Amino acid sequence: MVQTLMSLIRIPAIAPENGGEGELKKAEKLNEFLKTMDLDRIERYDAEDKRVQSGKRPNIVAYLNGKNDQKLWIVTHLDIVPPGEESLWTMTKPFEPTIKNGRIYGRGSEDNMQSMIASIFAVKTLKELDIKPSRTVALAFVSDEEQGSKYGIEHLIKQGLFNPKDLTIVPDSGNGDGSFIEIAEKSALWFKLLTIGKQAHASRPYTGLNAHRIGMQFALELDRLLHEKYSDKDEYFDPPETTIEPTKKEANVDAINIIPGEDVIYFDCRILPRYNLEEIIKDVNNLRTKFEKQTGAQIKFEPTHKTVAPKPTDPHAPIVEMLAEAIRNIRKIEPKVGGIGGGTCAAFFRRIGLPAVVWSTIDEVAHQPNEYAKIDNMVNDAKVYASIATM
Ligand SMILES: [Zn+2]
Repeated sequence: MVQTLMSLIRIPAIAPENGGEGELKKAEKLNEFLKTMDLDRIERYDAEDKRVQSGKRPNIVAYLNGKNDQKLWIVTHLDIVPPGEESLWTMTKPFEPTIKNGRIYGRGSEDNMQSMIASIFAVKTLKELDIKPSRTVALAFVSDEEQGSKYGIEHLIKQGLFNPKDLTIVPDSGNGDGSFIEIAEKSALWFKLLTIGKQAHASRPYTGLNAHRIGMQFALELDRLLHEKYSDKDEYFDPPETTIEPTKKEANVDAINIIPGEDVIYFDCRILPRYNLEEIIKDVNNLRTKFEKQTGAQIKFEPTHKTVAPKPTDPHAPIVEMLAEAIRNIRKIEPKVGGIGGGTCAAFFRRIGLPAVVWSTIDEVAHQPNEYAKIDNMVNDAKVYASIATM
């Protein structure tokens, strides 16, 4: 498991949006490994994407047949996010995996290769022990999760592979002891605010209009208003409240003595499903108009990402109860069922009415420098998958 994980970390699979060449090389390496396992079937569903040199975003599905035709799907993603600031990687270089204290460091180790390897070795072990699973285990390895899934799980769903009576696990989020089963998520609203004033010499501010000051004041006022109005808590979610965060800030002028004529800030909001996104957008627009009148600046609002939370998976759906039983049996802990703020491939299943759960045992170091996978978590999660397959 360790060697396979490390060999995959060595092949970056970065999206074209982030300047990468996609997932093909990594998918081919993985495919080679899957072929050695003597599985019942391996299928490819590559999506066309002219932005990458190969023109393909690969998706692989590997099957181990069971006693009946119900399927247990385990869906993991091939793509990774870029390493970010390299100097912050103090434990290892992002694509040169290193083992230290039971952890394998490298970009993509936790997100999502720890779970990918766990799912593969659950199947490999059943096969080698000659145990025919109760249901067919279908491992899906998809592209494009980090950038919206159009060439990944969305493409696979269009092929009509999934059935409402199947069991689906998306191990792409979780907690440290594997006690959290995610069945719901929040809505998401990301937006850009562009404030336009007038550039001027900093010694004569009256000849311009400082877009930076107005932009900051507007962002803070908006932040306060949204937090006040959308303040409900739902203990079912972690965290229980709507999150509203000013995040990315674009650079403005190159010199200290220039009054900025433009200001750009972004917000990332994860919203409890009870709230209507259109209502929030209306609030932003109302405040925006008020600020424009007061200051003479122009403020443009541009949503960059908007997802309405799909209906949660039924907490009594078979996959939830089977996973809970496996966790109780193997870990001797009581699982908790609930919701999170982030989106995963599971949302695409829920949107078409297919029950899916998100589960894994991770330290939540995804997208960070010094990302790592815990070897014990990888092994122990494989046991849970094998247990559900044979239940
Ligand atoms: Zn992920």
